[in-house]
Amino acid sequence: MVNQSTWMDSKSKIETIKKVQGIKAKIGYPDYFEKDYMIKLEKEYAEYNFNSSLMLNALKLNQLNSKNALRALRDPINKNEWMITLPTTISATYHILLNDITIPAAFLQNPLFNNNVPKYINYGGIGFIIGHEIAHGFDDDARKTIEVFHKLKQCFVDQYNNYTLTQVNQQVAGERTKDENVADIVGLKMAFIAYRKWAQSHRNVDKKLPGLTKFSDEQMFFLSFGHAWCEKMSDTVAKFYLIADTHSPPQFRAIGSTSNLAEFDRAFGCKPGQSNSRVDKCNMW
Ligand SMILES: [Zn+2]
Repeated sequence: MVNQSTWMDSKSKIETIKKVQGIKAKIGYPDYFEKDYMIKLEKEYAEYNFNSSLMLNALKLNQLNSKNALRALRDPINKNEWMITLPTTISATYHILLNDITIPAAFLQNPLFNNNVPKYINYGGIGFIIGHEIAHGFDDDARKTIEVFHKLKQCFVDQYNNYTLTQVNQQVAGERTKDENVADIVGLKMAFIAYRKWAQSHRNVDKKLPGLTKFSDEQMFFLSFGHAWCEKMSDTVAKFYLIADTHSPPQFRAIGSTSNLAEFDRAFGCKPGQSNSRVDKCNMW
């Protein structure tokens, strides 16, 4: 994708590829869970002596957290350490300072991932998430090409500004959500390319699912992606998305990304301008 980009200078391309290759993946849970789990936990919690007073316990917790944070300043950085994300967190993260992505065990579940389903389901689910997190590593990065980068981003701002969440009759904030929207399209494209590459070397391995036999594998990839964004929200949650969240409401994450992807049009045999497919597609990579 990077090499095929028409707007990046060659120096930026080399740096981008170097950075992608340097991304470390933290999957499931920290390594120490498998060996010195108890020793590490007991050592970490040795000073946490709580009593029956909530107030005093909360103060103690703050005190120990500050102490640990200050101690970390003197310790060498352990790049394998899980910083903010826990194995129980239902979300993936990209860490800009460590250039790593974390996919916790709790997120490696249906509908995003299942070891026993055809690969188009996993590529459309967790594959998309991985692509989305990798894309966050390149939010505001390129140098000479930065101006073109911002111009390309404006296309996404305009597109998402045009979406209205009818449930609460309010517009999506295109400017605030632009980095996430860009990461969505880049992530989806990356996952699709990765799936197609896998499928070429594993012909007829993916089986059809009962009741969904009329769909091709590529169509199933996109259906798996869309399925993950199926959500029923209260009005309060819907409003939160529109006034504070950096992500677009789930339905626009699904239609916004696919509307910009020529690969989606090809998979479903539709032309730009038909239904959800955009004529002037916003693109980044
Ligand atoms: Zn994101």
